[in-house]
Amino acid sequence: MLKFSANLSMLFTERPLVEIQFPYELGPADLQRLLAENEQQLVLINVPAGDLMQGGNGNACVPGEEKNFRQAVAQAAEYAAALQVPTVNVLAGRRVPGLSVEACEAVLGDNLQYAVARLRDAGATTVLEAINVFDMPRFLVHSLEDMQRFVHAVPRLKMQFDCYHMSRMGEDVVPVLRDNLAQIGHVQFADSPGRHEPGSGRIDFRAVFATLRDSAYASTRRFQAGIENGSAVRNNPVTGRQRQDNNKTGASANMSHCVFCKIVAGELPSTRVYEDADVIAFMDIFPLRRAHVLVIPREHQQHLHRLPAPLRERLIQAGARVAEAIYASALKPAAVHYMINDGPQAHQTVPHVHLHVLPRFRGDGGSFLLSLLRKPFDLVLGPTSHEALEADAAEIRRQLERLK
Ligand code: 5GP
Ligand code: ZN
Repeated sequence: MLKFSANLSMLFTERPLVEIQFPYELGPADLQRLLAENEQQLVLINVPAGDLMQGGNGNACVPGEEKNFRQAVAQAAEYAAALQVPTVNVLAGRRVPGLSVEACEAVLGDNLQYAVARLRDAGATTVLEAINVFDMPRFLVHSLEDMQRFVHAVPRLKMQFDCYHMSRMGEDVVPVLRDNLAQIGHVQFADSPGRHEPGSGRIDFRAVFATLRDSAYASTRRFQAGIENGSAVRNNPVTGRQRQDNNKTGASANMSHCVFCKIVAGELPSTRVYEDADVIAFMDIFPLRRAHVLVIPREHQQHLHRLPAPLRERLIQAGARVAEAIYASALKPAAVHYMINDGPQAHQTVPHVHLHVLPRFRGDGGSFLLSLLRKPFDLVLGPTSHEALEADAAEIRRQLERLK
């Protein structure tokens, strides 16, 4: 399944944990604690880049800086190993005035070779990023060809493919992405030319996501939503969890942001099929199959184990009752999945306990798998309307009545 992740250096910058590209202000133990508390995973960090962000040349392509670069790699490796960061990015740096491109590239090539080996020992893949010529003049790696040259020269090095930078460099993002997938270790999404959320510029993100979905990349890599002005993302249920699941003390103030609490309170519409004093059941708005129902407790808890035992029992009872109604309905499913994803690592995207009741139909194997892959794109393509969900909901309600 495609995994999106937020670039916390650009998104949510009002929060204290911002410079996650360079997480080195906090020790690895502190970061580990914060990530665990918030059930987040760091998917990408940069090797410390010397004075690059202060306008200097950095450390990766500068003759004489090799020792500093190796120390920076050692620090990144320490964090990568401690925090299980899968991907580490090397920033090439600026060409040193007075030196030839070739001389700087030779230094960068040697340094990349070192970084790949050292970071591999720490369990991470090394990636190299191109930054467009307008945003960072004199950066040594501007173009797709620049990245390709190094990736071909340094075994196991991968590209960090930033859709925005590629578009700014005049590339046609979709075919270029497709043709280079095997050499790409990480993808960043921001539209061009404004570097805002997908849909705000000229990149065809539907085609970008379709390309990624259709590739083997989907199952093995995480994608980074590098979106500067992430309002669209903040409002969607997947990344909405970034703000919602820091719930250490049971039902917390966070419930005011919780999509399912809003559904319980009637502040958001839902197509309900069942409700009582403890639980409600309603149609999933991004259904994986027809008649995909969610059963939730009215009480806000992220984790099943935090629900009082009698409420857990009520949840399962209601789920079984809904499944019985679906079995009895004209839909005639062959089987039913009961599923609870508990915690973000288990793909829980709404931090309020929910039991999926998901019917399966004879011969739907292939299309079922496809619908799982399609899921992240639902956020871009939009939800199913309540009117469209109503037909199956009405049939489920009818059967529930009959079963009473
Ligand atoms: P999870 O991935 O957390 O196990 O499942 C969350 C489910 O909630 C997803 O299947 C998603 O489609 C569904 N969902 C998210 N937001 C809404 C919403 O606003 N209304 C409804 N009905 N379902 C939602
Ligand atoms: Zn809630």
